[in-house]
Amino acid sequence: MTETVKTVVVTGASSGIGEATARRLAADGHRLFLGARRTDRLETLTKEITAEGGTAAFQRLDVTDAVDFQAFISTARDRYGRVDVVVNNAGVMPLSPLEALKTDEWDRMIDVNVRGVLHGIAAALPSMRAQGGGHFVNIASVGAYEISPTAAVYCATKFAVRAISEGLRQESDGDIRVTLVSPGVTESELADSITDATAREAMRTYRAVALPASDIAEAIAYAVSQPSRVDVNEIVVRPAASVQ
Ligand code: NDP
Repeated sequence: MTETVKTVVVTGASSGIGEATARRLAADGHRLFLGARRTDRLETLTKEITAEGGTAAFQRLDVTDAVDFQAFISTARDRYGRVDVVVNNAGVMPLSPLEALKTDEWDRMIDVNVRGVLHGIAAALPSMRAQGGGHFVNIASVGAYEISPTAAVYCATKFAVRAISEGLRQESDGDIRVTLVSPGVTESELADSITDATAREAMRTYRAVALPASDIAEAIAYAVSQPSRVDVNEIVVRPAASVQ
């Protein structure tokens, strides 16, 4: 149980890293407000957290919709009085070679992975500033540091999340903390959205060694638990056996 109870908003909490983060931070005593499109999953997760003595609520959220994100943050604020931490975790990864010209999938990655993070910042930053502090934990990827075939657009979105996070950190007057968490291969549903046969095959080998999502949640919990004078800027977490 942590000494400072915070209101933490987690996007993409219906599976994988977001779900594990919600469970981990609730176990630390924080108040969770969970968003994603699959509300059946959020409802089950919220019930499980509550049954274990934690505090959680949820609302349907599509991070690509700026108005929806504003309403989401507004409900969290109404419910708990303030929003201290936004974990911008929602992401998609439909990998493919550029020459496959899957332009709809490029757009979706840009909309969810980049615009989604910006919408989260736009929705929460003003009230964080007004209340004298707040913390954005943005989930990037090792793809924010390295590029590989079939991952050009995905990596571009994660490079963008890294740039946005560092820019926000530099513009902060010490009141807004920004942490970039970049996972290596982690067990989740992320690769399920790959429609390209080449990329799907390549991922089978690449994703053979994976961390449980709880390992990434642990890194997020570490950043969230630091005293307000400490901003953990970047955390990269790879499986120890990973060569990439
Ligand atoms: P999952 O596919 O398990 O989770 C992705 C989450 O994003 C889901 O909860 C999904 O919920 C949500 N999501 C997708 N689109 C939207 C949307 N438009 N609005 C709101 N939520 C949305 O994958 P991970 O847990 O792995 O992914 C979490 C983050 O971690 C992503 O940003 C990913 O890029 C990053 N990452 C993951 C790695 C891995 O190996 N797993 C490695 C590096 C980075 P729903 O469909 O219900 O809306």
